[in-house]
Amino acid sequence: MPDITHDISVEPLNERIKQLERLLELSRNLSATLEPEPLLQTIIEVAADITYSQEASILLYNEVHDKLEFVAAPWFKRDTMKEILVPLDKSIAGQVFTHIEPIFVADAQSDPRHYRIVDKISGFKTQTLLTVPMVFQGKSTGVLTAVNKLGDRHYTENDVRVLETLASQAAIAIENAKLLKRSQEAYDELAEIDRMKSDFIAITSHELRTPLGLILGHATFLQETAPEELSKQIEVIVRSSMRLKGIIEDLSKIDNFQTGQSSVRKEEVNLNQLATDVKASFKEMVEEKNINLSLNMPNTLLTMEGDMDKITIALNHLVKNALTYVDEEGKVVVSLERVSDHIKISVKDDGIGIPEKDLERIFERFYQVEAHMTRRHGGMGLGLSVAKLMVVMHGGRITVESTEGKGSTFSMFFPTVEEQVSKTKPFI
Ligand code: ADP
Repeated sequence: MPDITHDISVEPLNERIKQLERLLELSRNLSATLEPEPLLQTIIEVAADITYSQEASILLYNEVHDKLEFVAAPWFKRDTMKEILVPLDKSIAGQVFTHIEPIFVADAQSDPRHYRIVDKISGFKTQTLLTVPMVFQGKSTGVLTAVNKLGDRHYTENDVRVLETLASQAAIAIENAKLLKRSQEAYDELAEIDRMKSDFIAITSHELRTPLGLILGHATFLQETAPEELSKQIEVIVRSSMRLKGIIEDLSKIDNFQTGQSSVRKEEVNLNQLATDVKASFKEMVEEKNINLSLNMPNTLLTMEGDMDKITIALNHLVKNALTYVDEEGKVVVSLERVSDHIKISVKDDGIGIPEKDLERIFERFYQVEAHMTRRHGGMGLGLSVAKLMVVMHGGRITVESTEGKGSTFSMFFPTVEEQVSKTKPFI
């Protein structure tokens, strides 16, 4: 029950109507205002207005200090008030906050619960006051106080009701504003991290290129001139450098795409030849694992308008992955076909497959299926994102179907020329 220290007076009907109208108007405005400062200021102005008070203020719970702090007060003393921390156990506001019950006081100066420091600092004299709790999802978040009812009158039950209504709307609006602020901050943080990631990619790919070129050049020279007994070690240096070169090239491709530096060169691409060349480039890996890598393509020539280098890069990544993730003596099939107005290039393997939960994310940069599945293999999680970029740049899309333990099929769909011209956005 509220702590009623004065008899309830009866307000004229037109005063109540005005109060209700102001409340209604505020509830409309509250949902439209999401900036915390103006929102809080509006709430205290309306609170003072509808309760016919000299002024109003809002205190919210400060977890760090375990005290209440002023977050809204009349503008002329706002800065002074914001410095004040109100203890929970020695103030009316603290009691209202703790017990979630409104309190109204007819003579604050003689009430021992009144926290006098606030008056002293702000040079104000509190006479009557009404404080109601602000509650969000059953939890007390702060208090709303109206001070000095005008015209020597006292606060009434009706004031309690309207101020409580206002406080509950305010509590929700404040939480919404806080949530919005937090999500905006999280969004800004993510954008900053993404920018740092892009900078990192750009700097790394640029700075590693020169020293790596030197290592490769000298290692290749040594390979030709060094005595036989060192050739195995030099071979390891050359191979590892080539792998690093591949990673740096992938990073550059991503960076070039992001900075808008890459474009698709249009030429007539002989896909039968392209697939045959890609197959031949994996001869060593195929023989090492005794893999059955086959081509499934039409007898007639299949061509498309596109960028041969980019299509080759994409197919290279898919075939390399397929060969990596099949066991020894596994099977990989590269298929080419024309499907209505698209060219479909797919790579099917009977390897380890991909868990369903990872399928949506494997095309993201640096994403790799968890360590226990892939720990036997190297890689940076860039191959599929690069393949996707190459396809998207042609206005195409890339898909995957996979069953864990059974294998995967990656398919690239390239629209035919007419469609590329009519579409401005890639269809992914
Ligand atoms: P990585 O350099 O790690 O191979 P990718 O972007 O090419 O990066 O692939 C991302 C992840 O997707 C890989 O770490 C792997 O777990 C999974 N993956 C890709 N292709 C296959 C495939 N054919 N079979 C099974 N898993 C695959």
